[in-house]
Amino acid sequence: MNILLYAVPFFLLLIALELIVDKWRGTNYYRVNDSLTSLTTGTINQLVAVSKRLIPFTIYVMVYDSVALFSWPDSAWGWIIAFIVYDFFYYWKHRMGHEMNILWASHVVHHSSEEYNLTTALRQTGTGFLGFIFYLPMAVMGIDPLMLVTVGALNLVYQFWVHTRHVGKLGWVEWFFVTPSNHRGHHAQNTVYIDRNYGGVFILWDRFFGTYQEEQDDDLPVYGIRGAVRSWNPLWVNFQIYNQLFWDAVHTKNWWHKLTLWFRRTGWRPPDVVDQYPLEKNELEDFEKFDIAIPGALKIYSILQYSATATLGVWFGIVAADLAFAELASLIGFVLFSSFAIGSVLENRHYAGVLEWMRIAVLFTMALLSPIPIALSIGLCSICVISAPFLLLGRHQAMSQVQALKSAA
Ligand SMILES: [Zn+2]
Ligand SMILES: [Zn+2]
Repeated sequence: MNILLYAVPFFLLLIALELIVDKWRGTNYYRVNDSLTSLTTGTINQLVAVSKRLIPFTIYVMVYDSVALFSWPDSAWGWIIAFIVYDFFYYWKHRMGHEMNILWASHVVHHSSEEYNLTTALRQTGTGFLGFIFYLPMAVMGIDPLMLVTVGALNLVYQFWVHTRHVGKLGWVEWFFVTPSNHRGHHAQNTVYIDRNYGGVFILWDRFFGTYQEEQDDDLPVYGIRGAVRSWNPLWVNFQIYNQLFWDAVHTKNWWHKLTLWFRRTGWRPPDVVDQYPLEKNELEDFEKFDIAIPGALKIYSILQYSATATLGVWFGIVAADLAFAELASLIGFVLFSSFAIGSVLENRHYAGVLEWMRIAVLFTMALLSPIPIALSIGLCSICVISAPFLLLGRHQAMSQVQALKSAA
């Protein structure tokens, strides 16, 4: 049973609720471009998780089968302690995800939003291939693979609700648990909060290992990362730091640095590269969030098209095990292409229109020809038909704006 898949309706419900509170309080914590990028990276994360056929999981099973030292009890206490043990290893996985270049390249996705709302919780990496290593001690301890997957999913589900700015400090709870307040600190780029509050469910680990930082009223979190991603393209959000590390490895003349920069402290760069290829960092004094203005029609269009892609993604999650390789590959290909194309609409790229008309044609054909349930097929075709005029109008308005700017210049 995929717990995360079943949690999706609750996630969507809570997001809707937070949106209502956001409008009601006039807080403006939501932006269409930011939220869609978060949701799309979440969709890619789940597609990868399903489609890689759980190879890391297989390694866990192998370790469990060959070197498990104990027979872990399948009792209530067995489950509770496994849940706590998982969170302990999660702390270290998460901490290394921030403190080592190659692991940060993967985890950065979760921190790339400059907003902080429930969609940020779903902004997850598509390249978390190495994370399982941190849980292998649990296999040695004899924790059943099914138990591992279950407590892991519950841990992730817990983390969803803390991604909100609408809940203040929670008194004694702040001492023991990860809360909206202490996790806000984790997502901040202010110096005081850097590399703090790594816990998943229990904040106690941070208190034990000296990485705890309380949210400060006189230094409120500025969300995001110093080396801002500045993109609404979910694929670029996933690969930007890998790309930077790759080019640093190419540019440096020192062979030792080429090989080791990946495993050094996050932010470390070869000295001969730093001056020659400087990286832009945010100034927090006059911090401005990354944004690109697009016509309202294109925002509506993007939301409609994201919904179609995500629905296809959820269906994929349900039936993935029964799909042939060609179907699996074409569906993943389509979702990745969609992520790129919708990102290009949000970034107002000149090629966005062409990509989108192509994509609508493919989606329409897929909805008609592929062996999907009839209700899904009708839904997807309807979204294509309803959204097409928004694309036409929105792109026309966007092009007119560009023309007007050009003539003004
Ligand atoms: Zn983190
Ligand atoms: Zn988070």
